[in-house]
Order: sequence, then structure tokens, then C-alpha cells
Amino acid sequence: ELYEEANLATQILSNIHRANFEEPTGIQRYTIPCIRQQDDIMACAQTGSGKTAAFLLPIISNLLEYHADELSERLHPPSPLCLIVSPTRELALQTEREARKFAFQTAVIPSTTSRRKDMVEKGRISLKKVKYFVLDEADRMLDTGFQPDIRKLEDLGLPPKDERFTSMFSATFPKEVQQLAKHFLRENYVFLA
Ligand code: AMP
Repeated sequence: ELYEEANLATQILSNIHRANFEEPTGIQRYTIPCIRQQDDIMACAQTGSGKTAAFLLPIISNLLEYHADELSERLHPPSPLCLIVSPTRELALQTEREARKFAFQTAVIPSTTSRRKDMVEKGRISLKKVKYFVLDEADRMLDTGFQPDIRKLEDLGLPPKDERFTSMFSATFPKEVQQLAKHFLRENYVFLA
């Protein structure tokens, strides 16, 4: 199967070619249709499997096709439509670089803030418009002790789970990750292993 046959927004196909991606990886084949139809997912994926594109490609497609009006709004404070939470600054920067590649010339503007928590708490960005929420490397999030901070996002304005679409990625599934999934995902989430 080629990317042309995957259900993606046509605007990002040329960016995929520019990145020299020829065909979707295993994880991408599973996540693209699920996220395109706005299922919540819990996906088992290791670094190197193409997991970043596995959520970026369908989310950017959804933003372009389902949220074009909201994309053109300029709000104060800025209110992103998609929030991706990574366990480390390095991973966040890597994800941002990948997002810029795929969103090139599409009017989707990626941005990273290593001080997200601070920015949200001080009211410099608002989470109330977030439609797509991604928890990347959930197991490492536990190792780094971020779990309480993540759970606080809902108190800080992240819409509740029935008003957003959530994707979780994790290499392993200890009990704590399953509890996080139960907390953040809708009851009928799709488990991709
Ligand atoms: P990740 O697992 O997201 O850290 O991705 C690992 C590397 O694989 C990154 O450099 C991606 O740009 C690359 N990659 C992701 N999907 C594909 C693909 N379909 N074909 C070739 N490379 C890919």
C-alpha cells in the first residue's frame, strides 16, 4: 500500500514524498484510518517504528479537512487545536521538526514550548480549543514523574475526553499505563498492538 491509497489529506502527500517516505510503516497503517475516523487509540510503538508520523499525518489531515475554519482563527491567548505531550524536551523538538516537515505550506503551525505548563498556568496559551490530544511515550512519562502534571491538564482547561480525540503511544503496557489509558481515553478506544 502506498501513501496515495491511505486516507490522507492530498495537501500533505507532496510533503510525504519530499520526506522520501515511500510506503506507510506497520504502525501507520493501523493508526491512519483510526485517527482519520476520530477513534481514540492506545498504540504499542517503539521509537523507530514511524510512530511520530503515525499520529501527525492523520491529525494534520483532520485539521486541514475538518477544522479549516478554526485553523484560520487567530485567538488571544493562542489556543492550539492539537496538543502533543512528550516526556522529554529532545522528543518534543524532534516531533516539532517532523510536524514542520509534514505541515509545510498547509497553514498548520507547529510550535513547541518546553515551558508549556508555565505558559498554560500563566494564561499565555489556552487549551480550551484542543481537539486532538496525544500522549507520546506514555511509559517514559511515568518514569520521568510527569503523571501528576498530565492529569492536571484537564484542570487547566484541556477539554474532557468526550469533547476531544486522544491518542496514546507507549512501548510497554504496565498497570500504570493502562490506568492512564482508562483515565484519558474514551471507553471504546481502539487498542493497537
Ligand atoms: P519515529 O519512530 O517516529 O521516531 O520515526 C523514526 C524515523 O523513521 C524518523 O526519522 C522518521 O522520519 C522515519 N519514518 C517514519 N515513517 C517513515 C516511512 N514511512 N518511510 C521512511 N521513513 C519513515
